Amino acid sequence: RLDDMSDSAAVATHCPYCALQCGMELSAAPDSGPDSGEVLVAPRAHGDNAAALCQKGWTAAELLTSPQRLRTPMVRASRDEALVPASWEGAFGTVAAAITRVQAEHGPGGVAVLGGGGLTNEKAYMLGKFARTVLRTPNIDYNGRFCMSSAAAAANRAFGLDRGLPFPLGDIAAADVVLLVGGNSAETMPPFLRVLTAPRPDTGGLIVVDPRRTPTAERARLHLQPTPGTDLALALGMLHVALVEGYADTEYVAARTNGLADVRPIVMSYWPERVERITGVPVAQQREAVRLLATAGRAMVLTGRGAEQHAKGTDTVTAFVNLALALGLPGTPGSGYGCLTGQGNGQGGREHGQKADQLPGYRRIDDPAARAHVAAVWGVDPAVLPGPGPSAYELLDSLGRPGGPRVLLVFGTNPVVSAPAAARMEERLADLDLLVVADLVRSETADLADVVLPSAQWAEEDGTMTNLEGRVIRRRRLRPPPGQVRTDLEIMAGLAAALGRGPVVETEPARVFAELGRAGAGGPADYAGISYERIDAEGGVFWPCPTPAHPGTPRMFLDRFATPDGRARFVPVEHRPAVEDVDAAYPVYLTTGRVLAQYQSGAQTRRVSALVQAAPGPFVEVHPVLAERHGIAEGDDVRVVSRRGVAVAPARLTDTIRVDTVFMPFHWPGAGRANVLTNPALDPTSRMPEFKVCAVRLEPVCSA
Ligand code: SF4
Repeated sequence: RLDDMSDSAAVATHCPYCALQCGMELSAAPDSGPDSGEVLVAPRAHGDNAAALCQKGWTAAELLTSPQRLRTPMVRASRDEALVPASWEGAFGTVAAAITRVQAEHGPGGVAVLGGGGLTNEKAYMLGKFARTVLRTPNIDYNGRFCMSSAAAAANRAFGLDRGLPFPLGDIAAADVVLLVGGNSAETMPPFLRVLTAPRPDTGGLIVVDPRRTPTAERARLHLQPTPGTDLALALGMLHVALVEGYADTEYVAARTNGLADVRPIVMSYWPERVERITGVPVAQQREAVRLLATAGRAMVLTGRGAEQHAKGTDTVTAFVNLALALGLPGTPGSGYGCLTGQGNGQGGREHGQKADQLPGYRRIDDPAARAHVAAVWGVDPAVLPGPGPSAYELLDSLGRPGGPRVLLVFGTNPVVSAPAAARMEERLADLDLLVVADLVRSETADLADVVLPSAQWAEEDGTMTNLEGRVIRRRRLRPPPGQVRTDLEIMAGLAAALGRGPVVETEPARVFAELGRAGAGGPADYAGISYERIDAEGGVFWPCPTPAHPGTPRMFLDRFATPDGRARFVPVEHRPAVEDVDAAYPVYLTTGRVLAQYQSGAQTRRVSALVQAAPGPFVEVHPVLAERHGIAEGDDVRVVSRRGVAVAPARLTDTIRVDTVFMPFHWPGAGRANVLTNPALDPTSRMPEFKVCAVRLEPVCSA
């Protein structure tokens, strides 16, 4: 049993941050009381993950006792007044009165909900149920739309089902060659680097595609450094090489796929020299990458946000899936395609119904059979369940506009920092009648709220998470939340009661998990055979797991894909330029990303002292040649100007970035907020914004 605890006073749980969900043991410090005081964190081996934590994990407990955590509800009487402490009764009354009034005037859609990929499965499930049955609004989506939605859409159309990694982490470690497109695991999930850099044969190794020579790319055998926004052309070119040079696995293609004939004519026009002109990746490197992948005994193609966060992200991932299919990788033991999900419960968060177009079990909300099944579990008439709603950015962009929602409830996300064209987000939020934020800390979004509700932290609640492998794991409570702080389930139940609407929201996580299993039973993400007891006994269970006797499914697609005929689908896709290409007015590409010591919008990690020390603020990575052209020296403040706004941050000169590109991390608010610059153009399928590339110009900030 992997979850055994060495000390009965300690609790075996997992890190609150990224989707690797490293194992952790929590215990009260010796001189602390059981319900307060310092909490000690120790690494704990779990699954294929050795006992290791990154700096974020080691320091995660600091927020439990931080003076910066929220401890009481807060309400502001008007937009001109400050937030002041309030009772739960008063806060719920304010929210319920606004919802009742707005829905009487504007209908159920006058209220919207935005969830998060860090919520437990139980909370994500209940948020979807709360929106559809208590609020009866179609307007619910979550911030995972900004994370891996393009990879999910591409996997759904190729394989009929998306599970980020359809195989355990150990299979990646054991592969001879790994192609990682647009991922920087050395900074985003450092313990995963052991998997990526596991010993491989002389004929194999790690291949990284990234416009920056990141710490991950530094460890690669081969680093392809394309122009931002051209990964799709690179993938088409690699498939061209595979087909022309005889690397395709014809037996696999014939037995397990459909559609290569539709893809071939497109790919034939992406010969290596043309692809070099589009991407900047030398012909020899394109050929070498394909040769390494195709001649490996076991090979993996993985994508991260760099490939996915584009207005053509779904097609880009599809092109890499097409390459993997031509080489016979998906559904072959030891090989495959997978997406490295980022947020802690980015996987489970997209399965249980907080997405605009889905019901629990990863079912489509417009499927009559799914609606009937879920409505029966919820005890409501299927006719009262709303249909699909807008995606996260479209929802945010409609707030306060004519016909748009006038009340927004936010659970555990911070769009003021993390949404594209972020300054516009503030304008939308300001036009609301009421903004309600439930969070651990007073995030930048909470700063703008009319009602702020303090929610419990990860060490103060039970529940489950689904990690990047599709393994369902337990989050365990060390102690109750302090003072007036409540769990998100209790907050939803309180709001439902204040509204006087049913059905009743269950607040006991184990009972919610059992209900979630019933609601999702028979769906693609079937958890019906998983229980807390099973997870405790087995250390985690991979979905789908339809019955208690089912062993779970660590490896998917070995016999058939989840398509009607069991065969994977090649999907024809074409390269197109970035929505906003460089020009005379905005001659430099901007790409955005993460740093090791901060997480997502930084709402939590910017409040942890060691992480602030390690990564105190924003910066702009500039190549020395580009810096010289602009008269910029190391440490100089630089104005980065896009068509949407201006950010100012100190320059970091480095030759690890392309001369035509600058990089900014997006974790910070204020003058250096990178997302005021980013382009909200959306992928037509996944509705993912174009975070990873836009056009900017640089202006040195003149000192007086
Ligand atoms: Fe936490 Fe991710 Fe770091 Fe592991 S890699 S300790 S899960 S932030």
